[in-house]
Amino acid sequence: MNVYCKCPGCTSENRSKTNAKTRVEYAKKQGSSVRLQCANCGKVKAIHVNKIYAKKSKSIFILSIFIFLFGIGFGGYYLMQLISEMKTVIGIVAIASLFIVPSWVYSNLQKEDQLRVNSFNRTYVK
Ligand SMILES: [Zn+2]
Repeated sequence: MNVYCKCPGCTSENRSKTNAKTRVEYAKKQGSSVRLQCANCGKVKAIHVNKIYAKKSKSIFILSIFIFLFGIGFGGYYLMQLISEMKTVIGIVAIASLFIVPSWVYSNLQKEDQLRVNSFNRTYVK
């Protein structure tokens, strides 16, 4: 995932990739401070790992919105067809679940991502 830190010189946010899930794990790999070359001002600074943080993923956010909207659109389309053909109660339940599934996937993706961010940001290295 991506982790971020602010450059002490110009306060612009820098991004780096890691597969560490917590800050402690990150520190084990990188040491308690990381040398960072700022993408904005180009200065090389040592950043303590406690200053490095995770953020919610934009791609997961976009993906979950997409699944949500696509699911609703898909459900809506079939709902319109259903109404025009006046089908059974079971059909209506099936259509209702077409709305529930994307909502569920959406909230689950959001929750997972928040958990990932929390588990990184919650731990500190002494
Ligand atoms: Zn900078």
